[in-house]
Amino acid sequence: MKKKTVKDVALKGKRVLLRADLNVPLSDGGVEDDTRIRESLPTIKYILDEGGRLIIMSHLGRPKGEVKPELSLAPVAERLGELLGQEVVMAPDCVGAEVKALVDQLTDGQAILLENTRFHAGESKNDPAFVAQLAELGDILVNDAFGTAHRAHASNVGLAEVLGGSVAGFLMEKEIEYLTRATESPKHPYIIVLGGAKVSTKIGVVDNLLKVADNILMGGLMANVYLSAAGHKVGKSKIEPDLLESARRGLSKDLDGKIKLPLDHIAAEELSADAKGEYFPQLDLPEEVMALDIGPRTVESYKSILADAQTIFWNGPLGVFEYESFSGGTRAIATAIAESSATTIAGGGETVAAINKFGLAGNFDHISTGGGASLEFLEGKELPGITSISEKE
Ligand code: ADP
Ligand code: MG
Repeated sequence: MKKKTVKDVALKGKRVLLRADLNVPLSDGGVEDDTRIRESLPTIKYILDEGGRLIIMSHLGRPKGEVKPELSLAPVAERLGELLGQEVVMAPDCVGAEVKALVDQLTDGQAILLENTRFHAGESKNDPAFVAQLAELGDILVNDAFGTAHRAHASNVGLAEVLGGSVAGFLMEKEIEYLTRATESPKHPYIIVLGGAKVSTKIGVVDNLLKVADNILMGGLMANVYLSAAGHKVGKSKIEPDLLESARRGLSKDLDGKIKLPLDHIAAEELSADAKGEYFPQLDLPEEVMALDIGPRTVESYKSILADAQTIFWNGPLGVFEYESFSGGTRAIATAIAESSATTIAGGGETVAAINKFGLAGNFDHISTGGGASLEFLEGKELPGITSISEKE
């Protein structure tokens, strides 16, 4: 890798700021899934073993610049402490005099976790005053937050500028190496499966993905937007006009018919755990229902395309997999990808949750910790969080 890593810098006695991605799902005040904490452990352990004084930064959820006690990283500090077998001090904030005093007390090999960086509006705005406050706390920046690499925020990009660069942690290094290898000269057929509900952040990547992939198989709410753009009746699904416009543009550019849309649906009047899914063999839905999963004919057609693939990238569940009635499509496609002999990569918060739910994690070649970041990487875009990591001399 051309980028400097944590192995290229002296850490002993240094105050090492680590931007990690500890944005884990919480429930009942505890950590529900500690995958992201475990993924960050190699870098954390390495810095501590080398005698660094470790100051960990992360965001959690979307507090939008306000202190939201339910989005505190305190449960993460506890879980991290258990996994490390040593105390991780939980700071009351991520900047300020009190935090500075705690950081000054650290000795070599000790760790502190700063409170949610997004409790301050300056984080997402990459505000110089906030960056300066963070910079007071450390000497070196290690960036291990691949999931945030598509954002130019204070704790990854701003800090790197002020501290004269940053180095990659092991997770960041692994993500860059894997995604580069798989996508620089991907083996064809290269098939992308794109679903989920975060349509506004995903629709923008489709045009560029069409340039690299042989097919894009759509599912989830994403597919409903494209079906609507193609003139089909999508029932109750609410679709914003500007998304519709983007989808229409995408379809009109797709002269080779690379975009594949569902052929049938599982739909219901309401989205709830006990809603019964009804099968609709046709594309146009009546007004009172919404499509919540792809139907069996779609599954068969997508499976036959996936059967010939040499490279598969999957982001976004094909239906509301959290509820049994609407999980069939996601389960079937996830299984087909897992059993494929192609190089298989998946990314995205809920996508990874679905893979774990179906017990298929061991069958993927790479599971990226970044959803949006991995999509933008595959698109060939420059990610500011990666650009800000220093190059090897
Ligand atoms: P990821 O985190 O993998 O990138 P998204 O955040 O875009 O995926 O979307 C995940 C969510 O999409 C899931 O929680 C799932 O319930 C929802 N979803 C999937 N299909 C539909 C659908 N047809 N209608 C509404 N929501 C859907
Ligand atoms: Mg998500």
